[in-house]
Amino acid sequence: MHDVGGRTPLAINDRAIALLTDLISLQTVNPMGRPYPGRLPVERPVVEYLERLFAPFGVKTTRQSCAPFHESLLMTIPGQTDAPGSLFESHIDTVPADDWSDRAFAPCLKNSRIYGRGACDDKGSLSGMVLALLQLLESGRQPPQTVWLLAAGDEEHGQTGIRHLIAAERLPIGRGIFGEPTQLVPVIQHKGTIRWDITVRGKSAHTSQAELGHNAILETLPVITALAHYEHQLRAACTSPFMSGPSLTVTMIQGGRTRNMVPDACTISVDFRILPGMDRQRSVDDLFAWLSALNLPLEHSEFQCFAPALSTSPEDPFVASVIDLCRDVLGRTMVPAGVPYGSDAGWLPEGIPAIVLGPGSIAQAHAVDEYVETEQVVQSAAIYYRIMAHDWTSIKTLTMP
Ligand SMILES: [Zn+2]
Repeated sequence: MHDVGGRTPLAINDRAIALLTDLISLQTVNPMGRPYPGRLPVERPVVEYLERLFAPFGVKTTRQSCAPFHESLLMTIPGQTDAPGSLFESHIDTVPADDWSDRAFAPCLKNSRIYGRGACDDKGSLSGMVLALLQLLESGRQPPQTVWLLAAGDEEHGQTGIRHLIAAERLPIGRGIFGEPTQLVPVIQHKGTIRWDITVRGKSAHTSQAELGHNAILETLPVITALAHYEHQLRAACTSPFMSGPSLTVTMIQGGRTRNMVPDACTISVDFRILPGMDRQRSVDDLFAWLSALNLPLEHSEFQCFAPALSTSPEDPFVASVIDLCRDVLGRTMVPAGVPYGSDAGWLPEGIPAIVLGPGSIAQAHAVDEYVETEQVVQSAAIYYRIMAHDWTSIKTLTMP
């Protein structure tokens, strides 16, 4: 059943362990918007490692600079025809490991689990996709359709790796597989994320004569209440069989300058999660209109995040085929699911079906003692390989324009 590289199960396991421990040891911590002291892109150690790994096969690799100090690596295996190809994507960057001491980048194997920062998010998936691509190359077979593997940069902060690929390359992508920790469950839908700040302006005055000012903190209270009411209405109007309703969360608040001044400004940060099928722009336009009815002097910042939802139809034939291929490997039928968190998959242009599927659990992602089961990495590789080697020409996706 486990056939990565055509080896016995033990050898495949060893190969997966060697690859994943190498990738964890190569630190690729995303500074997440904080100052970055390095001179090379965050992802460079893994980019160079992958270039060396694929060089003997003559694979076309392209470095893509997607943001200051971030880069991706695109690997291209041309198909037998120029029919739309399959994009595989996992991200190279990890969240920081400040709370781990020095164990984070010294991977260890215990009870068939590999521990280390990035073990499941997202170097487990990246290992699975690399193992699958190696199997394809070692077989000497040309895939029916082109296979791209994007080892993406900057997923954890700006999602600039996938955004750069979509904007700059205009590849004829027919379907997408995004590796993230889903316990190998095919995730076909997830929420979109919109984040920005709302600032309410007041007027400063000495607190001994507070009546001469306008207290911006007090004037922010009706905004917070209005957001709560709006969320309530939205959840009644918009539902999904795959996940909880849309949400509006005030995550931070800052106001005032000194203890003896009426505050002239108060800023709240808002995290707005929308459901698949909800238009991003319309969602914010409607909300802003609702808030403007409060007649308060408020200003909206630029969006810090404006990430689309993933809305692959459960009826799409691509989904049914991937479930069949999963059954070949796992011996059981996986049920397609939705999740509340976002991923790079939402950035694929509308009409191209995408599935998020990878080893490990989201419960371990970003956590101390993050780990992944070695067996799941090997199983993911076998699933990815089958998708790479599958002939998709006869599959008409429901959502293609
Ligand atoms: Zn991730």
